[in-house]
Amino acid sequence: MQLKNKTALVTGSTSGIGLGIARGFAREGANVILNGFGDAAEIEGIRSGLEREFAIKARYDGADMSKAEAIEGMMGRAIAEFGAIDVLVNNAGIQHVAPVDEFPLAKWDAIIAINLTAAFHTTRLALPAMKARKSGRIINVASAHALVASPFKSAYVAAKHGVAGLTKTVALETAEHGITVNAICPGYVLTPLVEKQIPDTAKARGISEAAVVRDVLLAAQPTKQFVTVEQVAALAVYLASDAAASTTGTIIPIDGGWTAH
Ligand code: NAD
Repeated sequence: MQLKNKTALVTGSTSGIGLGIARGFAREGANVILNGFGDAAEIEGIRSGLEREFAIKARYDGADMSKAEAIEGMMGRAIAEFGAIDVLVNNAGIQHVAPVDEFPLAKWDAIIAINLTAAFHTTRLALPAMKARKSGRIINVASAHALVASPFKSAYVAAKHGVAGLTKTVALETAEHGITVNAICPGYVLTPLVEKQIPDTAKARGISEAAVVRDVLLAAQPTKQFVTVEQVAALAVYLASDAAASTTGTIIPIDGGWTAH
C-alpha cells in the first residue's frame, strides 16, 4: 500500500486513462477525487465501487476543466476536505482532427484550455499546500505528441508540447520543496478519445477506418500493440510513490517505441 493516507485528484477520471490511474491509486490505499463528465448514475457507480473495492474515500467533482473559476472551486473543496492534494494528475483532455487551415476556432480554444491551461490552474492552486507540507507529486498526462507531431492535430500537439514545457518549468521551481513534477507520454491507448478520432482521421486522410488503425495508429508504434490503461496507471503509481523522489522534470514516453523512430 504505497499511497496509504494520501489524497489524489485526477482530472478527467470518469473514463479511460484517468479512471485507470484513479483505480491504480485507490488500489494502493489513496483517497481519490474523481473529475470528468458523463452519466451521473454511472459516475456514482464508479465512485461508490472504488470505495467498496479498496476501502478508501472517493469523491466526485464535476468541475469543467475549460473554466478557471470551476477549477478554483474544485481545488478549494478538495483542499478544504483533505488538507492538501498529495498527488495531482492533470489528465483531462480532448482531441480534434482537422487540417490547420480548416481547424474550427472553438475547437482550438477548447483543446488549449482543457489540455494545457487547466494544468496551469490546478498546479498553481495545489502548490501552496504542497509547499507547506514539503511534499507533493504532480503528474501530467501528456502524450507521445508532446515529443513528436502528427498531421491534422495542430491544437493537440501544440497543447501537449506546452504541457512538457510546463512540466519542466514547475519541476525546477519546486525541486527544493519535496515536490516532483513529471509528464507521462503514452502512445495510442484504445480509449473513447482514440475511438472517436478514427472516423475523422479516416475522412481527413481519405482512407477506411480499418486502415486508420493499421496504417496510422499502430503504424506509429513499433510494438504494433495499443498501450494499455493498466500500464499507464502503473507508471503513475510509481511516480506518485516515495521511490520516485529523485525523478522530476522528466517527460517519460510509454509508447511501444514510437518516439524511438
Ligand atoms: P477519454 O476520452 O477516455 O477521457 C477523457 C476524460 O476527460 C473523461 O473523463 C472526460 O469526461 C474528461 N473531460 C473531457 N473534457 C473535460 C472537461 N472540460 N472538464 C473535465 N473533464 C473533462 O480519453 P483518454 O484517452 O483516457 O485521455 C486521457 C488523457 O490521456 C488525455 O489528456 C489524452 O490527451 C491523453 N492521451 C491519450 C492517449 C490515447 O491514446 N488514448 C494517448 C496519449 C495521451
